[in-house]
Amino acid sequence: MNVLIINSGSSSIKYQVLDMATETVLAVGLVERIGEEVGRLKNTVRPDSAEARETVLEQPIPDHRTGMELAIGLLTDPAQGVLRDGAVIGAVGHRVVHGGEDFSGSMRITPQVIEALERNIPLAPLHNPANLDGIRVAMEIFPDLPQVAVFDTAFHQTMPPRAFLYAIPYELYEQDRVRRYGFHGTSHRFVAGECARLLGRPLEECNLITVHLGNGCSMTAIENGRSIDTTLGMTPLEGLVMGTRSGDVDPALHLFLKQNKGMELEAIDALLNKESGLKGLCGMNDMRDIHRAAEAGDRRAAIALEVQTYRNRKYLGAYMAVLGRVDAIVFTAGIGENDAVVRAESLRGLEHLGVVLDGGRNSERSREARCISSEASRVRVFVIPTNEELAIGRETVAVVRG
Ligand code: AMP
Repeated sequence: MNVLIINSGSSSIKYQVLDMATETVLAVGLVERIGEEVGRLKNTVRPDSAEARETVLEQPIPDHRTGMELAIGLLTDPAQGVLRDGAVIGAVGHRVVHGGEDFSGSMRITPQVIEALERNIPLAPLHNPANLDGIRVAMEIFPDLPQVAVFDTAFHQTMPPRAFLYAIPYELYEQDRVRRYGFHGTSHRFVAGECARLLGRPLEECNLITVHLGNGCSMTAIENGRSIDTTLGMTPLEGLVMGTRSGDVDPALHLFLKQNKGMELEAIDALLNKESGLKGLCGMNDMRDIHRAAEAGDRRAAIALEVQTYRNRKYLGAYMAVLGRVDAIVFTAGIGENDAVVRAESLRGLEHLGVVLDGGRNSERSREARCISSEASRVRVFVIPTNEELAIGRETVAVVRG
């Protein structure tokens, strides 16, 4: 079955067409600047092969529907589309950011599911409406295809109350569902599954800590295959230091900034989400630039690295305490997969907890899943490339096949 994966944002749509029989990417694309004067669509056919071919369109793309139709036009183009000659899409899988407490797994999209997504808009006011746009457009274009929602939050619905409740008046949870939800669930679930395979054990018997370090960063404590705690909270702002997001701060910071800097709440929210994290500390949010700058003597770049890796280490220690037995720690996403220095610094000093890196293995560059701990390490350490689209494709097929 070919599955179309859609990740619809407020002014962009990312998509992939996957052949799920072979788990290969037939096409990948990005529609961006929707609603701006000139929009852009980039479509790449068979990106992982020698015949990869890229098409770029620049023209006004007033709305999501136009963007999706342009993409479908390229995919089904009789001369060079990947879906020519009768190849069809069998199902559509949608990445959905916030499922609230309504979804602990992927769901076939029905009017009830759409209603629940609308109900959860207050929890993700930027993301859920954009995801819903993508769902509505795909349902209009493909009215007869099964459509599946795969939620960023679903994997973490197994967290117990002691991990998901904030210590604030309980009524805020009861009435407004204010609690920790966690995100990146598709990625944590995917690399946990791959890790179990490498350990040669069922996931249900594995205790893992999965560390997703990309532009967004989060860490999850997994007990017997289930998420029992994770660093992102009610929104994707809590926890680790991210590219432009602060992670944990004292909540009284809001009042301080208002009283001393005259900032409105919206400006503070933007500051913490878009101007903080690595970027706030050193002006850069790409880890490659930060390393170059730190090596050239830029002190703030060095500090940014230290603050991020120290926070990683602190949460690793916390999750080791929470789990007791840890079979493996898994690094994934842009930084986690590529950055040997961040991995080594995040694990520095954890030898007494049974975590011993193999320096040689850690610095080897590879795109494959691999073990980077030494033979003496009680806790194994892996680098496992995440693949959220493939995970969404697998979930979609599983839901469609019941
Ligand atoms: P992601 O959100 O998973 O796509 O990760 C994006 C981030 O990964 C970028 O902003 C970089 O900071 C980081 N990254 C990508 N490639 C490398 C690399 N080779 N070394 C270090 N960091 C990298």
